[in-house]
Amino acid sequence: MEDLNELTDLFLQCKTCYEYFVFDVFEQAYFAERGLHQPKRCKNCRNGANSGDSNENESKQTTVTCASCGVETTVPFKPRKAVFCKLCYTQGRDVSTEE
Ligand SMILES: [Zn+2]
Ligand SMILES: [Zn+2]
Repeated sequence: MEDLNELTDLFLQCKTCYEYFVFDVFEQAYFAERGLHQPKRCKNCRNGANSGDSNENESKQTTVTCASCGVETTVPFKPRKAVFCKLCYTQGRDVSTEE
């Protein structure tokens, strides 16, 4: 069992901005209580100043079927009209692509 008195403040280096920040005994207790790992980023970065490692882009991928060859592909947007896979798209540039 860990006792608060046995803990000491830790200095950790932020993985995002490389600044050192204090991971104090109260935070350590808080994290331990919730079974969390040591923070990898400083408070600034954790507070959303830098959300570079989110998977938002992935969740926005939409699976579509190529209008030409019928193969399934994913695009990072919601298509409003016929979508071609990469292959057909690059091969079929002469397809009428009028807006
Ligand atoms: Zn940071
Ligand atoms: Zn295709």
